[in-house]
Amino acid sequence: MTLNKMNSASLEARHVSLSYGATEVLRDITLKIEPGEFFALLGPSGSGKSTLLRLIAGFNQHQRGELLVDGQDITGVPPHARNIGMVFQSYALWPHMNVWDNVAFGLVERRESRDAIRRKVGAALELVGLADYAKRRPGQLSGGQQQRVALARTVVIEPKLLLLDEPLSNLDKNLRVQMRDELKRLQRTLGLTTIFVTHDQEEAMTTADRMAVLDGGVLQQVGPATGLFDEPVNRFVAGFVGTANLLEGRVQAVEAGGTVRFDAQGIGPLHLPAAGLAGPVPGPGAAAMAFRPHHVLLQARGAAAEPGRLWLDATVESAEFLGEFSRYRLRVGEATVVADQPHYAGHPVLATGTPVRVGIAPAQVRFLSH
Ligand code: ADP
Repeated sequence: MTLNKMNSASLEARHVSLSYGATEVLRDITLKIEPGEFFALLGPSGSGKSTLLRLIAGFNQHQRGELLVDGQDITGVPPHARNIGMVFQSYALWPHMNVWDNVAFGLVERRESRDAIRRKVGAALELVGLADYAKRRPGQLSGGQQQRVALARTVVIEPKLLLLDEPLSNLDKNLRVQMRDELKRLQRTLGLTTIFVTHDQEEAMTTADRMAVLDGGVLQQVGPATGLFDEPVNRFVAGFVGTANLLEGRVQAVEAGGTVRFDAQGIGPLHLPAAGLAGPVPGPGAAAMAFRPHHVLLQARGAAAEPGRLWLDATVESAEFLGEFSRYRLRVGEATVVADQPHYAGHPVLATGTPVRVGIAPAQVRFLSH
């Protein structure tokens, strides 16, 4: 590949805010993305992800704060002068041009030499595995191939940053997984700083080096997938990155002997060893006790309880068989706990109404006060 690997840039947002009329869509965003990083902007629909991406591309303007590429403020620089490549969700290929001409377009516009164009377009098509498709029109390609053309067309101009808006959402599930791997390979090959928008946590977790979780235009947390999954800073991140049980209640003071008393709504007082938890115990007050469904053990009421776990009587409310595991919704007092249990042939899925016990390991519990 002869595309330049060295021009990858950093991106920094400092206290960036953007409003449409009275609606604040991005609120005080501060974020640094390092050269060569594969970075995801993750959040539910309407959280401001695309607005932030378009802001970086230059299609939106922020009212407050600074946006820097390699330390240079790019506020006011028009999109075409930013040297930032963006792949749109719709791919936006020209239907009347063949693959080669679609990919060559940006280079022709930049008046590059015929030789350079031939070399670069050839290399870009090679990179995305479409060297044999140069003469086809976009309409004669599958969705995945069209996306590869859109990628080739964008990286061929050797941008400093690559922006991808929901790059996989138009593809069916199998192709999505395959393109996920291909995107990663392409990104690594080029070493290109890449920022992609997605509402799909699995996509962000499997692809990105680090991600930023957005909600309501506010940056909630930034980090690698494992960091966000294991150490969410608030209820939103705990519930959005993976699935979480969030039992609401109040943390009471840590009692003598290092035991935390948590008064769980609908359940009652629970006692856990403060030193053995996954995170620090917040001061007394409202909090959620957070733990993952796959960390909950299910047992028959009469079975010998493994020591060290918090055991609570429960009743199966519903069960979903998902193949590898079954997801149970369980009634515990007036609260609901979700438990994922690995499935083995010959083990029946428990019926609604079955009395059971749930075992929660304190080492996997974290209290969240936000
Ligand atoms: P996401 O990409 O996370 O789905 P968007 O960035 O597209 O979210 O939108 C964030 C919010 O900004 C939404 O509430 C949306 O309705 C609003 N919004 C986006 N574009 C405009 C616009 N051009 N004018 C007014 N409101 C907009």
